[in-house]
Amino acid sequence: MRLIRIKADACKGCGICVAFCPVKVLEMSGGLNVRGVHFPVTVENGVSKCTKCRICMIHCPDFAIVVDQE
Ligand code: SF4
Ligand code: SF4
Repeated sequence: MRLIRIKADACKGCGICVAFCPVKVLEMSGGLNVRGVHFPVTVENGVSKCTKCRICMIHCPDFAIVVDQE
């Protein structure tokens, strides 16, 4: 199972998740989603740095990120 699940097409491109991640796991992709905006992706080797704090998930206004804590 993937630790960080990003629902790209639910994202409105606000960048909050990227700004709030304390360990800089996320960055905005160069691509566009169905809403015509950039969405977050994990940086190279980013998943291994994720502390599962869920700050990104809690602050996303569109519920577009889910972080599994198993
Ligand atoms: S769960 Fe925390 S560490 Fe992991 S990507 Fe989200 S904000 Fe960053
Ligand atoms: S906080 Fe949510 S809506 Fe904003 S860029 Fe991140 S995933 Fe997209």
